[in-house]
Amino acid sequence: MDLDAALAVLADHKAPAYRVEQMRQAITREYIASWDEALTLPKDLRAALEEAAPVRELREDDLQQSQDGTIKARFTTHDGYPVETVLMRHGDRHAVCLSSQSGCALACTFCATGTMGFGRSLTTGEIFEQLIWAARTARQHGARIRNVVMMGMGEPLQNLDSVLHFCHLANDPGGFGLGARSIAISTAGWIPGIDRLAKEPMQLRLAISLHAPDDVLRSRLMPINRRYPIAELMASLQRYRKATKRRVYVEYLLLNEVNDRVEQAERLADLLHSSLPGGSHVNLIWYNPTTSDMTASPPERVNRFRAVLDKRHIPQSLRRSKGVDIDAACGQLAVRGVGEVRQAARAQTRPA
Ligand code: SAH
Repeated sequence: MDLDAALAVLADHKAPAYRVEQMRQAITREYIASWDEALTLPKDLRAALEEAAPVRELREDDLQQSQDGTIKARFTTHDGYPVETVLMRHGDRHAVCLSSQSGCALACTFCATGTMGFGRSLTTGEIFEQLIWAARTARQHGARIRNVVMMGMGEPLQNLDSVLHFCHLANDPGGFGLGARSIAISTAGWIPGIDRLAKEPMQLRLAISLHAPDDVLRSRLMPINRRYPIAELMASLQRYRKATKRRVYVEYLLLNEVNDRVEQAERLADLLHSSLPGGSHVNLIWYNPTTSDMTASPPERVNRFRAVLDKRHIPQSLRRSKGVDIDAACGQLAVRGVGEVRQAARAQTRPA
């Protein structure tokens, strides 16, 4: 929703100030999909708002449900960019995985979003709308959103203004009211963003997609490592930890015979002990199939890797994948054709 446009409508209608609060409640507590549903507002105001500042800017194109209950929505922005949002259901506590960009510029080799190219960054409203969609869908199952992870399409730290604005809105106790600790931001290691998060008073969770303990391998898997190699990344995480005292979550995708050897587990433990003593938690992630030629580590290699981390007293857990059968799991979000959308958008804006 375009908030400025909505406020202009209120001014036009000489609406009393308390209408702003009613609008906020309608969106962040009732999860309305259209102003027609905001029954506290007078009818003419609802119609004018729907005309000038529709609640929903994203068009819902497709909805898929996995055997494990995970729901993936595919949206399109007003200018034609694809966005995907995934609702993960655990009893009455649901989590939602939000996209911060359409596509992604970072081109990690194991990630499907990386192969679709970069569309554009999403606005605060477009990110928030994904959360409201999730809350509305969860409500149909008698559940609430307990956790938000910025792990959908895109690199959130390359769109940090909008992402932080979104976090403030989601966290607002008079609005959506989600605890800051329930919001996780995941980054491939965009250092300028980490340094900004170090100054952020909100207690957000920070997760780093590390995936390799040495520069040669990491640069091969994640091109961003050529710009921000591991030593610099670790130094930024140290600054972050010193400033915030918060734990850093390290994500490590287990790729068969690529990064899952015992020596690599030892090296990961060395790295974390020296850079983040007592201040990290490793999330090991099953690899979900994409178009890359890599495969997931088999259970015995996963267990061996975990055993090394245990022996070295590195706290760790293994993240089970959800929604793999509908391509809704980590790294599987991709919609073909961002390139075509960009070309069409460029053609539209080109002077005649
Ligand atoms: N750009 C951010 C957030 C999006 S990716 C980042 O890199 O952290 C969210 C997580 O999914 C990251 O840890 C990413 O590395 C991981 N991921 C990517 N491809 C995957 C795959 N095929 N299987 C499992 N996890 C994957």
